[in-house]
Amino acid sequence: MNGTLLIAIVVVLVIIVAVLLLVIYHLYTRHQAGKSGSQELAANLQDEKQRSSIILNSIEDGVILMDKYGAIQLMNPAATTLTGWDAKDAAGLDWSNVITLINEKGEAYEEDKNPFAMALSSDKPLRDNNAVLVSRNKKEQPVALSLTPLRDKNDQIYAAVAVFRDVTQERKEERRRSEFISTASHEMRTPVAAIEGYLALAMNEKVSTIDYRARGYLEKAHVATKHLGQLFQDLLNSAKAEDGRLSSHPVVMEVGDFLEQLSSDLTFVAEKKGLATEFVVGSSTTSSQHIDATGTSQKVVRPLYYIKADPDRLREVVTNIFDNAVKYTESGKVSLGLTGDNTVVQIYVRDTGQGIPKEDIPHLFQKFYRVDNSATRTIGGTGLGLYICRKIVELYRGRIWVESDPGKGSSFFINFPRLSSEAAEKERAQEKDAALKPVASPTNSV
Ligand code: ADP
Repeated sequence: MNGTLLIAIVVVLVIIVAVLLLVIYHLYTRHQAGKSGSQELAANLQDEKQRSSIILNSIEDGVILMDKYGAIQLMNPAATTLTGWDAKDAAGLDWSNVITLINEKGEAYEEDKNPFAMALSSDKPLRDNNAVLVSRNKKEQPVALSLTPLRDKNDQIYAAVAVFRDVTQERKEERRRSEFISTASHEMRTPVAAIEGYLALAMNEKVSTIDYRARGYLEKAHVATKHLGQLFQDLLNSAKAEDGRLSSHPVVMEVGDFLEQLSSDLTFVAEKKGLATEFVVGSSTTSSQHIDATGTSQKVVRPLYYIKADPDRLREVVTNIFDNAVKYTESGKVSLGLTGDNTVVQIYVRDTGQGIPKEDIPHLFQKFYRVDNSATRTIGGTGLGLYICRKIVELYRGRIWVESDPGKGSSFFINFPRLSSEAAEKERAQEKDAALKPVASPTNSV
């Protein structure tokens, strides 16, 4: 082998070694870069996790995460404080072992009203501001609850998050406020009733002599005083309804008879305004029986619709809805109806009045809500009537709602659970027995 060949071999070897070194270096740097990238990603994820857990651990709202079977996966410290359960003990348990909800009267939540039970099949977030949470050591705390179902990309629920907070303080303040309103309105009702009485005496020709002009003024004062008295009565009722102090003496009642008697009083007001009225009883339109609302029609055979409610309270509700129908209807007809099926008794009031805009309907049964239009600006009202109606209807496990066609009219519906004739008879017998026993303590009434 000569020198030139040797040199050539050495050069080739050097080149091969250099290329190998370059490849190794390249692979090494890529590996390093990959390593730092995944480290960065891991660090980021770690950061994210830390941030979420800082937020979860520091907020005062209780947070519980359940999987799609209802098993608890996560509980933040506020949730452990509120429920009295240690997060480790609760992990993996079904929510029903950890969460006990009762209503303000101390009754257990039925399954179909419990937001925890409903969240895993609901298509929207659920809220409940009236629940009371019973902790592991039986402490009762009013809570505001919201439950949100979580969905995967196939729109299937895979978990649900519950967020709840203690509202004991807010409830106390609300109670204080409503106590103030009820004391104030109660105190003011008495002098207003006296003024109303004296005005009526002053206008009574048999008692006083007044000239034509003075009579005009007194009539106006009388109307305004009556209005003021109604406002105080509404305020008092709404304050009582709010904290469950509305007096109620439910008995078995037959709604057909009850409405028939009531309808003659109601229609008087409507007819004074020139409106037609009707009272319809029946389970369907074809078999409906139209009873002359003046009460002069023949006796008809009709189904008996029994419910359990306080007749005085129900009278307040129907009168309020009917009076509204008259108030907000310029011309046409106001109908009072009764229908039902095996489980439900339905009362409805239909009018051909101005109707209610769609956007106002969800707010209509809230306190002080009035539709803002020219009619409500000229027609007096407090916006408390429908709120009180809702509260009364709910006392008897009923439901009230409205359907309306603006410009054509509105229909208010009230549903109550129906008592069968046998159940009504049995209850009536029990009521009779109870009436024979001495009364334990007097009840207060509004
Ligand atoms: P108000 O004292 O204002 O009548 P309510 O609580 O009884 O208070 O009613 C709330 C509002 O609902 C009313 O201000 C009115 O705007 C609307 N409303 C109630 N009933 C009817 C009806 N039959 N037709 C049209 N609007 C109605």
